[in-house]
Amino acid sequence: MNLLKKIFKKRETPFLTTLTITSENGLHLRPIAKFVNEVKEFSDTEVTILAHNQEVLATQVPKLLSLSLEKGESFTLKCVGKEALEASAYLSDFFTTMMKEDLVEKEILQTKESYEAPTIQGKTIAQGIAIAPLAPYETRRVSQTKDTGLSIKDAIRRTKEELYDLYQANKTNHEAQIFLAQKELISADVFRYECTTVRRFLEIIKEEVSRLENTRFASRIPDYRDVEQRVLKHLGMTSIVEVPSKPYILLADDLLPSEVMKLQNTLIEGVILQTGTPTSHASILLRSFAIPSMIINTPLSANKRAILDANSGNLLLEPTNNDLRKAMDKQKKFKKEQEEGYRKRFDTTTTKDGKVIKILANISDLESAKEAKDEGADGIGLLRTEFLFREEKPTHKEQVNAYQKIFELFNTLTIRTLDIGGDKSLPYINIPQENNPFLGIRGIRFSLQEQTLFQEQLLAIYQAVEMVMPSAKIIKIMFPMISTVEEFNEAKNIALRVAKHHNINLSTIQFGMMIEVPSVIFALKEFNQVVDFYSIGTNDLTQYLFAIERTHPTLHADATSPMLMSALKTIAKDVNKPISICGELAGLEEVTKELIEMGYETLSVSAKLIPSLKERIRHV
Ligand code: PEP
Ligand code: MG
Repeated sequence: MNLLKKIFKKRETPFLTTLTITSENGLHLRPIAKFVNEVKEFSDTEVTILAHNQEVLATQVPKLLSLSLEKGESFTLKCVGKEALEASAYLSDFFTTMMKEDLVEKEILQTKESYEAPTIQGKTIAQGIAIAPLAPYETRRVSQTKDTGLSIKDAIRRTKEELYDLYQANKTNHEAQIFLAQKELISADVFRYECTTVRRFLEIIKEEVSRLENTRFASRIPDYRDVEQRVLKHLGMTSIVEVPSKPYILLADDLLPSEVMKLQNTLIEGVILQTGTPTSHASILLRSFAIPSMIINTPLSANKRAILDANSGNLLLEPTNNDLRKAMDKQKKFKKEQEEGYRKRFDTTTTKDGKVIKILANISDLESAKEAKDEGADGIGLLRTEFLFREEKPTHKEQVNAYQKIFELFNTLTIRTLDIGGDKSLPYINIPQENNPFLGIRGIRFSLQEQTLFQEQLLAIYQAVEMVMPSAKIIKIMFPMISTVEEFNEAKNIALRVAKHHNINLSTIQFGMMIEVPSVIFALKEFNQVVDFYSIGTNDLTQYLFAIERTHPTLHADATSPMLMSALKTIAKDVNKPISICGELAGLEEVTKELIEMGYETLSVSAKLIPSLKERIRHV
């Protein structure tokens, strides 16, 4: 009704822009809230979104959420009014950038651990080890503790202010968006116009919650519950949470974000959720407060002493004395690694016997490059260029600029040419459908077929290198998915021809390759004659060694299998050029010592792992 009135009132020409959801997460609550916040800046313009045959106001979080827009779907942004042109340009740009920056909450890799007592397996939310009794979560709802004298409208306004203050106070942290998201939920028209009584307010919350039930947005229900609690608190109604006065591991069904905030000030050692998800807002907060936590669907009750080993995904309800000793040692080591590692993250990493180990970062764009710098990376071991331009083919200038900005940050950097195909696709690159894409046109095979794209990328890299010189920088260009010497030679010859054609000086550039196809292991002598360096992609190497697709939903190859370790030993022995490991294995705790003993002196991992990996190596 409201919307219709507004639409008919305006007669100006609308500005229409088509935008696409590019984040893996789809259009979820946090980006919606951020976007709505920007839309509100254009008070003289009416901004609506058209999708799935509906038109909804772009200031209404619940309505936008109910569009359920997934990755790959598009919508039309419609701006009508005085500032329509500016709004359209600004909001389109804001939306595109926001999509690129939307972090995908990755599943946390679990390490292996063996205990004597039986264990219950769970999904890790936040790493760490907790040893304490299990305490069920108990709340007592107190109906009215005091009369604050506020009306429901005042209580809603206070809640909005409180959430905005929380957002401002935590603005530099990723989790701040949670408060902004909740503020936008409670700012929806339905609360503004229809909440005349507390009863009606509670009914509306109930309606919104039931709309989300059994949808993919069900994990947002706790946000409505949270907002409900905050409003009730301003009306003088609070629920009292009872927690033990000794260290405890909390056992709860699920938690509200505000509950996590309250609990972190108690003697909480760990959390077990029975119905939560690792991507919920409560889980994001558990990670940011570093509270060891897991999701375990098995019914559990209070118990005297438990071990929660979230690093390996184990819960022990009746640990033996040996288990307790082991867990305590592990806990001490883990905490020390986190704290010491962070403090010394910019220091050189030297093993106990004096070997210097370089810890580089795997990155995919400028943001992750900056993060790597901040976490103490000694350089970049893998720049995955296929993620730099996810939406549209970049112009030559855009490509050069993007590389240049990243090159400027580091003295040593390995840039990998496009590695698409298999599990990586780009909307503007057409790869024919294949029955076994992981065994088809992937990585260098694609670049050798689509040489124009390959040549354009090489030239952009060369020009970016020229722009950051003269400084003591070495830029290493790495070819992915090489399986034969001929393939490497062909790729390198193309690179040399492009350089010659454009008069490029190659003195600061090296050419190397990924070792991720097993055939390479049997031709290292020949490869040694032609490459400048190697980097082992254990993610793909494992996939091809065991013939198990890396994205397979049920089959999982053993990430630290003795067969894989044996392959790594052979490679270390047979290469005579600098080599690093850039697959996930490089960051796994249980193999760090073994990899160094094999002779690997350069490891490349995701930025967040750098401080603790460096610290672990200092004790090897
Ligand atoms: C690998 O395969 O181990 C690797 C680092 O490359 P990607 O994960 O990008 O395929
Ligand atoms: Mg790979």
